[in-house]
Amino acid sequence: MNLLHEFLKQEVPKSRKEPLPYYLESMKLNDAILSLYFALISILLLTVSAHVFWVPLLALAAMLGKHWLMRKLWSIRLILLMHALILWSWCTWCIITFGWGCGVQHFLLLIILMSFFSVYEPPMFKLAYFLMTMAVRLLLYDYTLYHAPIIAFDELHAFVNQVLNSMAFYFILAGCCVIYSSNLQETMRQLMLHNERLQRQAETDPLTRLYNRRYMLFEMSQSMELNPSMMCCVAIADIDFFKKVNDTYGHNCGDYVLRQLASLLTEMSQGRYTVARWGGEEFCFFFPNMNLDDAGALICDICAAVRKMDLEFEGHRFHITLTAGVEDNDFRSSLDTLIERADRKLYMGKQNGRDQVVV
Ligand code: GH3
Ligand code: MG
Ligand code: MG
Repeated sequence: MNLLHEFLKQEVPKSRKEPLPYYLESMKLNDAILSLYFALISILLLTVSAHVFWVPLLALAAMLGKHWLMRKLWSIRLILLMHALILWSWCTWCIITFGWGCGVQHFLLLIILMSFFSVYEPPMFKLAYFLMTMAVRLLLYDYTLYHAPIIAFDELHAFVNQVLNSMAFYFILAGCCVIYSSNLQETMRQLMLHNERLQRQAETDPLTRLYNRRYMLFEMSQSMELNPSMMCCVAIADIDFFKKVNDTYGHNCGDYVLRQLASLLTEMSQGRYTVARWGGEEFCFFFPNMNLDDAGALICDICAAVRKMDLEFEGHRFHITLTAGVEDNDFRSSLDTLIERADRKLYMGKQNGRDQVVV
């Protein structure tokens, strides 16, 4: 029941003219094998009766016409309807003429297959194809209970007919399974890669490739929630007089500095902290399993490394410094409060002359 409910709720893409490669491929496979099948059946029937061999030729013409339309007019829904009409008509004619034993009823399954695998077909239409196909099958069976075949095959013709029917049906079925299953795997692969790319984009800052503020907040709160008794520290660091770098050497130079600093911070982390670009020239650090002394010492090392970092842009050599505020988890305050306190310490460091760590 749940499955049916989900199925009926399925949304259908708006643009119905764009053929999906896998669907087109499976429809072409249907067309090719069925056309060959109709041609061979026509030859077979020519040796049975001169009155009926034109019927498969008519089906062949309809199939070729449908194929031609498919290339000219990309209405995949119309193509599916034509496909279903050809197969319903063909099965009806064959069973009325040659009886239930001629075995064409397998072809009805292809209508269900092709309608259910079309993404453009609304669920109600798929259901309609399904019910119609089942009704055709049952009605035809019922018909054969009360009516004898018009033409009876001899043993050889019956055998050849069965071979042609079975081969056509099973080749189409196997081909469609190969197309759909490989397409499904490929689609899943692409979707997963696409999701990974989107996730990375949503988590990172494009300029520095560091995590962004949103991801950092998630990471910190997640980590503190999962380990409520974990000692940890938060630090906010800001480049001193960064505006001067932009004003003196240009905005591109400022961007270069941010990138260089980001790679230094990533390099120095060695799994001891997570760092993110918090805002313009501000960075946030999260030190899990570290007390205030250790985190303070580590951020002092980072600041010393930044001070020593040689920067060169368009022939200009210069250095930068950082001011940072560090706060430890007191197990009472919220994450926001810890960040706010670290920020206040950073401000104190700025007031105090910059290039320092306030613990
Ligand atoms: P302080 O020592 O007080 O922090 O001084 P400051 O000059 O670093 O601070 P201020 O807030 O006055 O200036 C920050 C500058 O950072 C201003 C802004 O143009 C620059 N900035 C922010 N984001 C970027 C960026 O992505 N690229 C570049 N090039 N500059 C940026
Ligand atoms: Mg600054
Ligand atoms: Mg700032």
